[in-house]
Parts: sequence; C-alpha cells; structure tokens
Amino acid sequence: MAETLSFIRENWTAPIEILILSVALYYIYKYLKGTRGARILIGLALVVLTLTLISQLLNLVVIGWLLRSFSVFLAIALVVIFQPELRRALTELGSHRFFGSAFENRETIEEITDTVFELAGKGFGALIAIEREINLSTIAETGVGVDCDYSKELVLTIFQPKTVLHDGGLIVSNDRILAAGCIFPLTQREDIDRNLGLRHRAGLGLTEESDALAIVVSEETGQVSICHNGIIDRNLNVEKFRNQLSHLLLVEKYEDSPETDPALEA
Ligand code: ATP
Ligand code: MG
Repeated sequence: MAETLSFIRENWTAPIEILILSVALYYIYKYLKGTRGARILIGLALVVLTLTLISQLLNLVVIGWLLRSFSVFLAIALVVIFQPELRRALTELGSHRFFGSAFENRETIEEITDTVFELAGKGFGALIAIEREINLSTIAETGVGVDCDYSKELVLTIFQPKTVLHDGGLIVSNDRILAAGCIFPLTQREDIDRNLGLRHRAGLGLTEESDALAIVVSEETGQVSICHNGIIDRNLNVEKFRNQLSHLLLVEKYEDSPETDPALEA
C-alpha cells in the first residue's frame, strides 16, 4: 500500500505530460495534414525513430552520437520546411479580431455568387481572395490599391481580359475591394492535378499562408473552385458554391472541412 502511494506520488505528473504531448501532437497533425511538409515530416520521424530504437537496443554509440548531434540541424530544417505553416500559425495568433468579420450578412454572399457565375458565363478567368481574420495588406501591396465598396460591375470590369488589371488576384476585405492585380504566393505542392495552372496554384498558395478564401474562375473551362486552408473544392455549381461560401464565411470560420482533397483527383 505504502509502495503504491509513493509510486503515485513520484509519478503523478506522467499522465499529465502524456496528455499534453498527445493533445499537442494531435493538433500539430491536424494543422499539417495535407500540407507539402506533412509527408516529409512522417518520413523524417520514421527514420529518426527507427535509428534511435536500433542504436538504443544494440547500444550503437556512434549512431547515437550522430543522432544527437544532428538534432539541432533537424530542428532548423523543420523550421525551413514548415515556414509557410509556421507563418500562418503565428499570424493567426497575432491578429485575432474580437468582433468577427463584417461578412456576417447573406447579401454579400449572394453578390459574390452572382459575380462569380457571371464571370464564368462570360468566359473570364478570375482570382478573388476574401480576407478573414488574417490581414492581407502585404499581399494587397503587390497590386494596385482600389479600396471601394464591393460591386459586381467593378469586378466584372476588372476581370475583362483586355483590361490592364485583369491579371493577378483581387482582394475583398470587409465588403470592400481592397486591391486588384495582386500577386499571390504559389503553392509548392507537387501532388495536385496537372491541369491546374498558375491561377489555381496561386489561389491554393494564398490559403496555405493565410486563413483567406480564394475563389478561382477558370478561363479555360469556366469551372469555379473555392480554396480554403490549403485545399481546393473544384467544379462547384451555383448551389454548392453558395453553400460552401456561407459555410466558410458564416459558420465555420476557422475549421478545416473534413472532405478529402479534390486537388488530388486527376
Ligand atoms: P485557367 O483555368 O484560367 O487557365 P490556370 O490555373 O490554368 O487557370 P493559368 O492558365 O496559368 O492558370 O493562368 C494564368 C493566369 O493566372 C495569369 O494570367 C494571372 O492572371 C494569374 N496568375 C498567375 N500567377 C499568379 C499569382 N502568383 N498571383 C495571382 N495571379 C496569378
Ligand atoms: Mg490555364
């Protein structure tokens, strides 16, 4: 009895540590799932764990020493590999708005839906980012500042293929058009459908580095897609588009949607 008590007294922190570590690992896994670095991380973890296990079991001194010495480099490598994800996580931590976004009305969603399907109908290619919590002003600076109330006519005019501003992305923030002709970061993913060109890659890339949504209207096929949290929902019809947009802007501002990633489909 006394032994059990002293065992509990000495080790009571262990379950707490296990709990904290499991929760942390779960959230890291959830955050990185589907990103470019996730497979690298799994590969690295497997190699390091196997080598550690073997060197411990067989008492391989040199390999153990090498593993310990390389752990510093490994940490630096991880920071480099996960730079976009880390940046997004830190920006999310640093820029929390407490009053929610101004997109809390259905009218804007209707207006954007109308615009997008009119663009598709006319065969115009378009890339529209919708800011959520994370401020997109640094990306807006790569384009031309507009800063006016959202209007379908203006967006249709901007994406008219003969205008000077039609290239690049447009940024919508709090029901206003912030800028047009902006350059978004391209995704580095190699596992996405080969038919997706730069416009789609720019849409995906932006949502890997921020919590923004990116709407892509394909010039080639007229297909409409929504990118969010580094995944792309492709070939949406009006109904699906409206539902997905309301869902992302009004219901679940931060959570990843659970579906599989259609970017992987050929
Ligand atoms: P589409 O289906 O419309 O052809 P796509 O995904 O095949 O789209 P591209 O054909 O490569 O893409 O589209 C090129 C257009 O994408 C460019 O004219 C430009 O407007 C836009 N674009 C390319 N790179 C970027 C970027 N980094 N940021 C914003 N827009 C970009
Ligand atoms: Mg193309």
